[in-house]
Amino acid sequence: MIQTEVLIIGSGIAGATTALRLARDGRRRITVITRDPDPHESNSRYAQGGIVARGPDDNVELCVSDILAAGAGASSPQAARILAEEGPPLLDEILMETAGIPFDREPDGALSWGQEAAHSRRRILHVGDGTGQAIVSGLIAALRRCPNVTILTNSTAVDLITFPHHSRDPLAAYRPISCHGAYLFDRDEHTIHRHLAAATVLATGGLGRIYRNTTNPPGSRGDGLALASRAGARIINAEYIQFHPTALAVPGAEGFLISEAVRGEGGVLLSPDGRAFMAKYSPDWKDLAPRDVVARAIHHEMETNGYSHVLLDLASHMSPDAIPARFPNIYAKCLEVGIDITKESIPVVPAAHYSCGGVAVDEWGRSSIENLYAVGEVSCTGLHGANRLASTSLLEGLVWGNRAAQHIEELLSRQPATGIPSRALVPAWDESGLVADPDPALIQGDMQTIQNIMWHYVGLVRNADRLSRAIRELRHLWNEIETFYRTTKLSDGLIGLRNSVEVALIVAQAARHNRLSRGCHYRSDSVPGEGERLL
Ligand SMILES: Cc1cc2nc3c(=O)[nH]c(=O)nc-3n(C[C@H](O)[C@H](O)[C@H](O)COP(=O)(O)OP(=O)(O)OC[C@H]3O[C@@H](n4cnc5c(N)ncnc54)[C@H](O)[C@@H]3O)c2cc1C
Repeated sequence: MIQTEVLIIGSGIAGATTALRLARDGRRRITVITRDPDPHESNSRYAQGGIVARGPDDNVELCVSDILAAGAGASSPQAARILAEEGPPLLDEILMETAGIPFDREPDGALSWGQEAAHSRRRILHVGDGTGQAIVSGLIAALRRCPNVTILTNSTAVDLITFPHHSRDPLAAYRPISCHGAYLFDRDEHTIHRHLAAATVLATGGLGRIYRNTTNPPGSRGDGLALASRAGARIINAEYIQFHPTALAVPGAEGFLISEAVRGEGGVLLSPDGRAFMAKYSPDWKDLAPRDVVARAIHHEMETNGYSHVLLDLASHMSPDAIPARFPNIYAKCLEVGIDITKESIPVVPAAHYSCGGVAVDEWGRSSIENLYAVGEVSCTGLHGANRLASTSLLEGLVWGNRAAQHIEELLSRQPATGIPSRALVPAWDESGLVADPDPALIQGDMQTIQNIMWHYVGLVRNADRLSRAIRELRHLWNEIETFYRTTKLSDGLIGLRNSVEVALIVAQAARHNRLSRGCHYRSDSVPGEGERLL
């Protein structure tokens, strides 16, 4: 049994920011855990395009109106304003001053402002096309300088410790659901610990890996969302899965993201026979239309013409010298698989990219469960509505990481340590009956089944038949996996599989329930109504 004041599950931008802000008070004891051996590994690490700030000819109102327009009428105006007002100063303070992130600059020393789809101004700060890598390195280095922060790697959260569910006190049933830490699986020792905390923060990122084609790394399997759902937290907007229009479509490099910034710098989408097609789908924005519109346009072109991919042409629109300087990682990755993007077009397809919904939280990152906060991609602040505006998610992690820290600080100063229950109240993890070793073939096979169901039936274009079929198959699989889980020794892979099927069901059910096409939730059998957009 371990005890800490604040347990933060996840070390991406949202978890790291929450920890850094809390750590300013040297009395606080904070533990950050991550399931990966490397604390840098996260979705945050792979962010390419950059992070929204306030550009030279920009202001709060413009930023808010771009977020709301992209969100297709479902973004929270309050969340958009919080981000637009608080984000840029926090970026200066946390990322530039505390973490020392070297954002790109022009030869005269001024910050270099990038343009991305659906932004009315140049307002994106970047570090080449490796912005996430630079940010995560800076944040983890800053965390390591904090003596009151412990980073535990190779530690997978299995379930939240919630009362009344895990309480030995029968009277707990009459109080609201509250969170008191989590059961953690130690991947080195293969043991499960109770980790008690006064406040618990879910910062576990996204769920892209429940889809066959995704830009997300292997850890994005929706763990936090599944943990919160099992504990009874309110989940909202789960149907709004954003598909990125342009992932590399070359064997051996599938899912590698070709940043929106490539179109921001003039890149144009072409059919394989060289026809520019975006003007047909979005006469005003063309290639810089919101993501949902571009992704569905590509999907439509592929489906109606039988293409296996479309092309993205940057070579004709940017000088060959400028391309490797602005997009060093994309240039190198494409070269590695035989494509010289200074001379030829890039084969691309859409891929699951971002979860706009998640654990419902208020403006301080508080979930519907007492003492449980959620920040970053696992949460739903309402900011992204039905479709996230490019480069806003890193900033959301920063802003709500800071806000959750502020709220927790207030909570702890009001009632120091009273939130931590006595250890006698919380039962140890029950391992009786777990005799079988986890079979990797079953885990991999079931995972692939989930990914195929989600891709074909809960993908870019949905309808009642596809969704009902998905739910039937996922329910059957859920039962199989639950039986497997109840009889098998724990492993990180098994924990991920159980969470993935749980989350896949949450997404599929939300998608079936919502019959109106809006933003990135597109139903071919949509009931007519406002919010419908193109295709
Ligand atoms: C390829 C790519 C490019 C992107 N580009 C951009 C961009 O340019 N700009 C932008 O704003 N956004 C971008 N995004 C989105 C953005 O990167 C993410 O939304 C954001 O980084 C999420 O941050 P987070 O802190 O919420 O989660 P993450 O950064 O994903 O961190 C999650 C953490 O939780 C840990 N974790 C997960 N499950 C468990 C568990 N059960 N137990 C313990 N630990 C666990 C992980 O190990 C990790 O440490 C991109 C995403 C991808 C995939």
